[in-house]
Amino acid sequence: MSKACTKCGKEKPLDKFDFKHRVAKNGTHHFYGMCRKCRNAKIMEWHKKNPKKVTLAQQKYAENNREKLIGLLQDSREVISDLLKYISDKE
Ligand SMILES: [Zn+2]
Repeated sequence: MSKACTKCGKEKPLDKFDFKHRVAKNGTHHFYGMCRKCRNAKIMEWHKKNPKKVTLAQQKYAENNREKLIGLLQDSREVISDLLKYISDKE
């Protein structure tokens, strides 16, 4: 299985795409339109443009997710993706 990235247009295997945590009614995963590389680039760009928003969101996130952050070292990937979701929810 592969799909074309909406940003770079390259056909890539599905493991190069992040999937959304929400699962469709038929049990399949929803994948992001952009490949992981493009998505990361977009997120980094957004961080550069919105440093204040990022700091604020991080502070709020830390207040609301103290226990999760304690487990940061155990699974930093999960926390970071949650954090990014939290930020994008505020947009
Ligand atoms: Zn791409």
